Amino acid sequence: MNRETSLSQRPRGPSTDNSGILNERILVLVFEYLNWDIKALCQVSAVDRKLRALAKRLLWRKLCAHHAPRMIHTLTEGESNSRIIGGWHALAKLLVFCGGCQPTAHFQLSQPVSAHLAVESSRFSKTSGRSFLVKKCRGDVLYVSDPCEHARGDRQDLVGIYRGVFRGFLKSRTRDCLIRSRVEFEAEMRCPYCGARVWSMTAAKMVPRSAARRLGSSDGALEYYVCLNGHLHGTCWLVALSSSDGGVEDADG
Ligand SMILES: [Zn+2]
Ligand SMILES: [Zn+2]
Repeated sequence: MNRETSLSQRPRGPSTDNSGILNERILVLVFEYLNWDIKALCQVSAVDRKLRALAKRLLWRKLCAHHAPRMIHTLTEGESNSRIIGGWHALAKLLVFCGGCQPTAHFQLSQPVSAHLAVESSRFSKTSGRSFLVKKCRGDVLYVSDPCEHARGDRQDLVGIYRGVFRGFLKSRTRDCLIRSRVEFEAEMRCPYCGARVWSMTAAKMVPRSAARRLGSSDGALEYYVCLNGHLHGTCWLVALSSSDGGVEDADG
């Protein structure tokens, strides 16, 4: 008997759609037990349309709140049921997934870096995020992760790959400035988290020197992009020094 059949043969009643595997409370308990494992949630939401809808409405948000509670509280301004621009699944991916990088016009690389799960090395901070905002946009709230370090065979320095997210990007000063700058979207690139088009902050002349200082960039060379939904991803060169620690947690509120 397959899963569809077994579900359809359960007694019908007002709670049928919320029974068994579709019972929200049971699913939340199961995922709490699984420490809100992102791979398990990907598998569950791929089972069928109902589970995908439930994950979209509830489970991805719960996963985000589990992995970065203070950051999510700030991003949603304390409204626990609120929607988020770009969707909760995209934000969940951003929390635990290093997007890798491709060589670009502003950041030369001999070969691309592959994307990967990065649960062990992600720490997001809005103090860090402030360093990525030009002076006139410092009122915006932006969280940025510590860079994920990747060795390159052809040079001593490491490639640092970082990611971030704006609060309320549609109303942000940064978006306003990007639109006023009339800079074009990057033709060949999409956001690794939501698939939307991206602006190059370098092309928009919106990369402050504080960003390189904050990252500890070895030669000041860095690049980052912001998508239509306010996700940021970027690269820099780092002096090979340390390995990161910790889990996915916001370093500040
Ligand atoms: Zn990485
Ligand atoms: Zn995006």
